[in-house]
Amino acid sequence: MKKNALTLIIVPEASSRLHKLRLRLPGLYAFSAIALVALLLLAGLGIAYTRMALQTAGYSALVEENQALRIANKNLEVATRQLNSKIRGLENLSNRIHELMEDDTWNNRLGLVGDTGIGGSVEDYPTATILEELDLQENIDLVWTHAAEIETDLRFVEEVAERRADQLLLTPSLWPVAGPIRSSYGRRRDPFTGESKMHRGLDIGALYGTEVHAPANATVVLAQRQAAYGNLIVLDHGDGITTRYGHLARFNVKKGDVIEKGDIIGFVGSTGRSTGPHLHYEVRLEDRTLNPRNYLPVDPPSLAD
Ligand SMILES: [Zn+2]
Repeated sequence: MKKNALTLIIVPEASSRLHKLRLRLPGLYAFSAIALVALLLLAGLGIAYTRMALQTAGYSALVEENQALRIANKNLEVATRQLNSKIRGLENLSNRIHELMEDDTWNNRLGLVGDTGIGGSVEDYPTATILEELDLQENIDLVWTHAAEIETDLRFVEEVAERRADQLLLTPSLWPVAGPIRSSYGRRRDPFTGESKMHRGLDIGALYGTEVHAPANATVVLAQRQAAYGNLIVLDHGDGITTRYGHLARFNVKKGDVIEKGDIIGFVGSTGRSTGPHLHYEVRLEDRTLNPRNYLPVDPPSLAD
C-alpha cells in the first residue's frame, strides 16, 4: 500500500513542527491527467481566439477596402457622366459645324458637302435618357462610340477644310476692280431697249483704264473682241468655275496664259454694248451664271487699293 503513496514533508522556518502531506499516486496521476487536459483545452481556446481575432481584423480591412472601392466606383460614375455631358457638347459643336458647312454656298456648289458626305451619327441616340438606365461599363462604351463618331465627323470637316483651302486660291473671291455696283445680277430693264432682260453679271463702275485683277488663280481661255461683250477675257479657275470680264479697253494677258490671284489681266473700258466705262463681271459654274455678289467680300476694296 505504501508503494502507491508519496509523502511531502513541509518544514516551516518559524517552528520545529513538520507538516506531512501524504498523496496517493493514483490520485496524483488522475490530477495530472486532468491538469494536462485542461492545459490543452486552454491552449486550444487561445489558438481559436487568436485566429478569430485575426479574422476579425481581416474582415475590417475588407470592409474598409470595399468602402474605398465603392467610393472609387461612384467617382468613376460621376466622371463618366461628366464625360458624357462633355461629349454631348462636342456632338452639338460638330453638328453646328456641319450645318455651317452645308449652308456654305461654295461647299455646295463645289460638291464638297452633300447627302453622301455629311455623316454625323448613323442613329440618333437619345443620349441623356439612355444614360440614366445604363451601367458603368455601358456608359463607358457609349462614350467611346460617341467619341469615335465625333472623330469621324471632325476628320471629314478637316478634309473639307483642307480642300477648301486649296480651293480658295481657285475661287474668285476678290473684287476684280474697286468700285460701286452700277447694275446687279438678275432681271433688269435693258439700258438700250428698255425691255426686261436677264443681266448675267455684275457691272462695277470704274474709271477708264482702271486695272482689272484676277480674283483667283486661273488659265486664260479667251482674250478677244466678242460682239456685245466688247473686249472680253474668260478665265478658267478649274472645277468648272469660269469668270468673264467684259467691255475692257485693252488686254494685259493672252489666251493660254497661266495667271495668279491678283495679277492684272486688263483695263476697264467701254467696248461693245456699253453706255460708259465699267467692268461687266460674270461668275459661272459649269457655264451656268451665278450671282458674283455672293462670292465677293462684303465691301469692295477702297479705291486706293
Ligand atoms: Zn453688265
